Amino acid sequence: MAKIAIDLKSGSIKKEDNLIVGIDLGTTNSLVAYIKDGQPEVVRDPDGRSGLVPSLIYFAADQEVIVGDAARSHLVADPGRTIFSVKRLMGKSFSDLADYAHQMGYQIIQDDQDRLVKVRVDDIFFTPIELSALILRELKTRVETELDRKVDKAVITVPAYFNDAQRQATRDAGKLAGLDVLRIVNEPTAASLAYGIGLSRDDSKTIAVYDLGGGTFDISILRIEDGVFEVIATNGDTFLGGDDLDQAIVSHWETRFNLGEHTPSARQALRLEAERAKKVLSTETQFTGQSGNHTLTLSRAELETLIQPLIERTMDCCRAAMKDAGLEKQAVNEVIMVGGSTRIPYVKQTVSAYFGRPVHDELDPDEVVAAGAAIQADILAGNRKDLLLLDITPLSLGIETVGGLMDVIIPRNTKVPCGYARQYTTSVDGQKNLKIGVFQGERDLVANNRKLAEFILSDIPPMPAGIPKLEIRFQLNADGILQVTAKELRSGTSQSIMVKPQYGIDEEEMGRMLLDSIRHAEDDMQQKALAEARNEGNMMVQSAKKFVQQNSSWLTPEEISRIEEHAAELASAIEDESKDTIQARIESLNAFTTPLAHKALEVHVASAMKGQAIK
Ligand code: AMP
Repeated sequence: MAKIAIDLKSGSIKKEDNLIVGIDLGTTNSLVAYIKDGQPEVVRDPDGRSGLVPSLIYFAADQEVIVGDAARSHLVADPGRTIFSVKRLMGKSFSDLADYAHQMGYQIIQDDQDRLVKVRVDDIFFTPIELSALILRELKTRVETELDRKVDKAVITVPAYFNDAQRQATRDAGKLAGLDVLRIVNEPTAASLAYGIGLSRDDSKTIAVYDLGGGTFDISILRIEDGVFEVIATNGDTFLGGDDLDQAIVSHWETRFNLGEHTPSARQALRLEAERAKKVLSTETQFTGQSGNHTLTLSRAELETLIQPLIERTMDCCRAAMKDAGLEKQAVNEVIMVGGSTRIPYVKQTVSAYFGRPVHDELDPDEVVAAGAAIQADILAGNRKDLLLLDITPLSLGIETVGGLMDVIIPRNTKVPCGYARQYTTSVDGQKNLKIGVFQGERDLVANNRKLAEFILSDIPPMPAGIPKLEIRFQLNADGILQVTAKELRSGTSQSIMVKPQYGIDEEEMGRMLLDSIRHAEDDMQQKALAEARNEGNMMVQSAKKFVQQNSSWLTPEEISRIEEHAAELASAIEDESKDTIQARIESLNAFTTPLAHKALEVHVASAMKGQAIK
C-alpha cells in the first residue's frame, strides 16, 4: 500500500512507494540494486565506477569493522583479521570445511553445541550468519545513502544448489542486518529476469546460465513455462574461477621468464599483474607488463592455450547438467553469461560453440544477478504483475521407517513449493510415542543418507498396533525450507517442526550422494530386501505367538510346540544376514500354520453359531 510522507526539510509531499531492493550476496563481491523508472539500477561507488562491494570484512584492533574495498589491503597485511569467502561457510559444519581450512588466512572453529562453523578473531567468535549480516548491512547503508531513505525489505539471491540450511542462513543474515527478506531467489533465475526472460506470461523457454566468477563455477539449466521458473539441473565446481586462470598465468610466467623464488608480497604483485594481463587480453591481443625488473608478455593466443584445460572443465559440467536435465543441446533457447570471467572472448566462444547459438552478454556480467534480484523485488512489491518462481529439490526428502529404511515423501527434482503427506501406523500395541527421523538423500537405508532432524509425536492414545492413523506431512516452501508435521488423525494429536538442518552440504557432497546412490544401487537393493524380509519375519513371529495364545484351547501340545519351533527358527534366521533363509523359514512357518488357521476359523464360526436358534 502506498504511503504519503511529508519531507519536513523541503515541505514537499513525497509518495513513499513500496521499495524492496535486490541483493546479490556473492563469494567475492556483493551488489545491491533497485528499480528506478522501471529499470534496474545498481548502487555504485561515489565515483560511479563500480557497484561491486568486495565481500571482505576487516576487524581492526580498535574494534572498528571495515567492510568492502577498504578491507582489501588487510588481506595480506593482517590475514587473521580479514575475512573473505564467507559464503562458502554458510550453513556448514567444521567437518564440511576441514579440507580447505588451511586455505583461509583466518581461523575457523567448531562449536560443539550446534556444530555450525564459527570464525574466531581474537577472543570473539562469529557465525557466518553474523559475518554475512555485516556485508548486508554495508549494502543496506549504501542504498539508503544513495536514495536518502530507509530501506528494510530485500530479495537476496543464492546459488541454485543451496540447500535448506544455506538458504535459511542467508535469510537469517538478512534479518540480522535489519532486512525483511521477502524472498530468496536463485541466482540463475535472477540473471534470466535481468534479460527480460520470463517477464511475459507466454514465455516458454529452456535457458542455460553459465556463471564463471572469481572462485566458483555454476551451470544451471532452467525451464520457464507460463511465467513459472523451474531449475531442472545444476552442476559446477566450487573451486574453479578467475583466480585459477590468474594462477595459470603466474605459473606460465614463472617458467617462461625464470622468475625463481618470490617473497609473499612479490608473489601477490605477480598475481595482480597476471589478473591485469587477463583483463587486458579480453579486449587487446597482446599484453606487456612488469614484475620487479622482469618484463612480462602474454598474447591472447597464449592465454587461450593456458586456460583451455580449465574452461574444458566447465564444459564437462555443462555436459553433465544437460545429461541430468535429459535434454539435447538444441533444446536450449537462451544462453546467459554471468560472472566477471565470462568477459573473456574465448569463454564466450567456447560456450557459444557448445550450445550452437550466440550467448547473451549485452548486460554487465557482474551486475545481472543483482539487477534480476531488483526486478524480482519489484514484482513482489506489486509493481509488476506477479510471477511465480519455481525451483526443485535437489535431493529426496523422507523419513525413517521400520528396519532403518528410507521412505521418500518428496522425491528429488520435485517442484517447490510443494506439500505431500503419507499415512503410517504403529507396529506395537499401545504405542504412545512415534519418533520421526527426517532424512535427505537417495539411498534406501537412512544410515547412508543425511539426517536433517528428529522429533517425537507424543500422547498418541493407546490403541492396538495398526489402528492409529499417523499422517506425516512435508511442506516445502518457495525458499526450500521444510516443515514437517505429524498428526494422529483419530485423536487429532499433532506435532510440527521447521527443519533447520544442523549443517548443510555443498554441491560436491550432493553430487557424491547421488553418485553413491547409483553405485550402491545393487547393494542397497539387497539390504533393502533383507530389511523387508526381517520386518515380515518379525511380524510373522509376533502373529504366531498371538495365534498360539488365542487358540490354546483346542491346539494339541504337539501342534503348539511345532509352531514355537518354527517361530524360534525364524527368529534366529532374522538375526543372520541371509534374506533367503528368512524367506524360507517364513514359508515353512506359513505352510505349517495355514491349515491350523483354517481350522481356527472353523472353530470360531462353530462357537459363534452355538446357541443361535436355526429357524
Ligand atoms: P565475480 O566473482 O563475478 O565478480 O568475478 C570476478 C572475476 O572476473 C575475477 O576473477 C576477475 O579477474 C574476472 N574478470 C573481471 N573482469 C574481467 C575481464 N575483463 N576479463 C577477464 N576476467 C575478468
